[in-house]
Amino acid sequence: MSFRAPLTKHHADGSDCPADHKHTRSGKPLHPDCPGREFTQAICSCGDWEMRHSGKGYVNECRKRRLAQHRPASVSASPVLRDVPPFNMR
Ligand SMILES: [Zn+2]
Ligand SMILES: [Zn+2]
Repeated sequence: MSFRAPLTKHHADGSDCPADHKHTRSGKPLHPDCPGREFTQAICSCGDWEMRHSGKGYVNECRKRRLAQHRPASVSASPVLRDVPPFNMR
């Protein structure tokens, strides 16, 4: 089972700030309906973890760390090793 924790952007009142709300490099909203992006949120699909913070990079970092905790530690090991009879052994 794998988990996801997508990043979402929000306005100060908690409503979604969708991708078509463009902003200037300094973060000023260009969309007439956009009051400005207030925070970024990530909710893990395990239902056990969520966070919000004004720094998108920070949320992203915590999110990755959180997802890494869900990964079983043994995944980095080599593919399944079978018990091969030692035919070729001398
Ligand atoms: Zn917006
Ligand atoms: Zn989780």
